[in-house]
Amino acid sequence: MGRERLSEYEARRDFSRTPEPRPGTGARPSVKPRFVVHKHDARRLHYDLRLEIDGVLASWAIPKGPSYDPATKRLAIETEDHPLEYAEFEGRIPEDAYGAGDSLLWDHGTFDTVPPGHAAEQRRRGRLDIELHGEKLRGRWHLVRTRLPRGRPQWLFFKAHDAFADPRRDIVAERPESVVSGRVVTRGPERRQVLEAPRPPPEWLLERLGLPPPRQVRAAVSNGRVALRNRRGTDVSKRAPGVVSALGALVVGDAVLDGELARRGSDVCFVARDLLWLDGEDLRGRPAFERRDLLESLLSSAGTAVTLAPRLPRARSGR
Ligand code: MN
Repeated sequence: MGRERLSEYEARRDFSRTPEPRPGTGARPSVKPRFVVHKHDARRLHYDLRLEIDGVLASWAIPKGPSYDPATKRLAIETEDHPLEYAEFEGRIPEDAYGAGDSLLWDHGTFDTVPPGHAAEQRRRGRLDIELHGEKLRGRWHLVRTRLPRGRPQWLFFKAHDAFADPRRDIVAERPESVVSGRVVTRGPERRQVLEAPRPPPEWLLERLGLPPPRQVRAAVSNGRVALRNRRGTDVSKRAPGVVSALGALVVGDAVLDGELARRGSDVCFVARDLLWLDGEDLRGRPAFERRDLLESLLSSAGTAVTLAPRLPRARSGR
């Protein structure tokens, strides 16, 4: 049931380009209906609430995110149904694709209606009274349709008065992280003016940042041009032509990465450890976990010659 409702989801996406799931690739309806909230750094940052109803994820885009204050009613714009597989999705939707930008799994759990088992009917009537059992969102909430304009139906999403309600709590600021990866920092789509801005050559960036830490290689990318040097400042790009072309293909204005060259069969690949510079910003003053989040975002669509070193244990205050 519900498959035919995914035609809009499929029509909007090119699955050879986006890492988002194709419908029908394995997810089964759950015993208890699931809900997820994605934190989606698209053209505008917003939160996508998705409720499992009739074999699909009914979806609403909430620009300001949820609030625990029952007096704060948040606009929720109905969007196309998503497949159940989307409940596991976290990653970056590539530039120029629909919804381009990072999307984190901000919350997940199960839900039911009050009284239980009436989700489809309540949705049709335009008033959902739900109880959420998430990691961040708990207790009873309301979703009320206010308008059926020519475009997307608009709803309001707000907290019910119960023991979890708390007007002082700012859950969006208090818990910014993904519940699956711990990632906090997101990157919106690369803007054309950033990608097309004139930039200094990559060698200039390497000189500006100085030498890499011991046993590492530093790579700079600038408008598709690449420079690769070892600790002694020697150009090592000839040793790793596949790495040079993979780095040159990254969709970014400019970037500087630390990592190592490693052998994989007859190929050489670059194992990235740190991101020091991104689109004109020196990241060295930012905490290590933020640089790591941005590095994962940057490399999400990189070719196989560029890989990520394993994430270090979470140290949120580390530099
Ligand atoms: Mn979205």
